[in-house]
Amino acid sequence: MAIDCPARIAVLGAGPIGLETALYARYLGYDVDIYERVRVAENVLRWGHVRMFSPFGQNRSALGIAALKAQGAAWEPPADDVLLTGREFSKRYLIPLSQSDLLADGLHENTEVVAIGRDGPLKQELVGDESRGDSSFRILLRGTDPLGHGRQRIAAADVVIDATGTYGNHNWLGHGGIPAIGELAAQEHIEYGLSDILGAARDHYASRNILLIGAGHSAATNLVALAELAGQAPDTWITWVTRRDSDEKTPQPLEPIPGERLAERERLTRKANRLAADDRNHITFFSGTTVDALTWHADLERFSIRLLGRHAGELEFDRIIANVGFRPDNRLYGELQIDECYANGGPRKLAIALAAENGPDSLDQPSCGPEMLVNPEPNFYILGAKSFGRDSRFLLSKGLEQIRELFTIIGDRADLNLYATMAGLY
Ligand SMILES: Cc1cc2nc3c(=O)[nH]c(=O)nc-3n(C[C@H](O)[C@H](O)[C@H](O)COP(=O)(O)OP(=O)(O)OC[C@H]3O[C@@H](n4cnc5c(N)ncnc54)[C@H](O)[C@@H]3O)c2cc1C
Repeated sequence: MAIDCPARIAVLGAGPIGLETALYARYLGYDVDIYERVRVAENVLRWGHVRMFSPFGQNRSALGIAALKAQGAAWEPPADDVLLTGREFSKRYLIPLSQSDLLADGLHENTEVVAIGRDGPLKQELVGDESRGDSSFRILLRGTDPLGHGRQRIAAADVVIDATGTYGNHNWLGHGGIPAIGELAAQEHIEYGLSDILGAARDHYASRNILLIGAGHSAATNLVALAELAGQAPDTWITWVTRRDSDEKTPQPLEPIPGERLAERERLTRKANRLAADDRNHITFFSGTTVDALTWHADLERFSIRLLGRHAGELEFDRIIANVGFRPDNRLYGELQIDECYANGGPRKLAIALAAENGPDSLDQPSCGPEMLVNPEPNFYILGAKSFGRDSRFLLSKGLEQIRELFTIIGDRADLNLYATMAGLY
């Protein structure tokens, strides 16, 4: 069913996909509010020192470029083939985009979305019934800045698009995916993401004994930085623990991606595997090992850790970095009728399509089609990294494709493609 203008669209999250979604909607003439918990590109800025592995041309849209060019002749787009850091991507593209005339008025930073319901039916009423869409959404918002901290209000919308990502919602490091004994109490002392080990966080890690957990690209990125730090501060020691068992004499903590098309990511994988293979790099590699329990000793600034598996035993570390992945926060839409996948926590239809794809990332996945984005709850959609649930293969180019597909549904025009139209104009 087409949503005619004027209609109010609420976009949750001002990350790359939230901003691009809002822009697409504004070009089509919808009224748009963007609700952002912290600041524009918050999650990208949290890993801002990391160089992206997809070139700028894959991460930006034709609409974004057009909006920024229209805004001022002074704006210089980065070259399409350049690999920007997260910070550069934010400063040179995402933040200027958020300040453009099309988006600035509808942007609400320091505004956390707490819960979403309907101005009428409860979750258990009108089950799967399109008439739920006759009532607008009620969105509970909470201020997060020092001035408006905790202040709550309700906003209304005809369409809600959740692009709140997963980066702020980590998995647990304990064996079996549950919190290790003691983890809940100690989590504020554990790094679950990518702090700037060679920059702002240098003193926190230099000359420390560090436990690194995980076997993905985030763990590899941290490992490479820690190894460089160990070269500068020789009392830095790293124990890299992965759940998957592998040969520790010629270790491959990260499985190389067959036919890898992103050169920067391939370089990272090789480098991390090479570093793990040579203990002169101050790295000890434990495969087939997990964490059972941990205790943070505040007086000593140190963890006691109990490991299970191949290297079972008790050890002590000064720091823990747990790159064990992220999951969607589904509490936001707990009062809506969302069909979630019981395995990956994302929308079920998309999760099934993703599970059928064995490729390393969304570059290799054919378009899933707009119907994958449809939920039992009318006019509520999940896009971006969050739509992939616990699947970490999401890429921005897939998110842009999702946006185009989504507006063929919202606009009820199968051939609607503003990206193609705009690309022909500049
Ligand atoms: C280190 C790293 C490197 C990556 N490199 C690449 C790359 O090179 N190429 C690529 O294509 N992809 C890359 N990705 C994957 C992916 O594209 C990014 O994670 C991207 O940031 C996802 O965009 P998003 O808009 O879906 O979500 P996010 O960027 O996570 O944005 C979500 C936004 O929602 C906000 N938010 C969260 N909860 C709420 C709430 N309750 N209320 C209001 N606002 C909320 C957050 O503050 C945030 O600003 C990388 C990911 C990581 C972690």
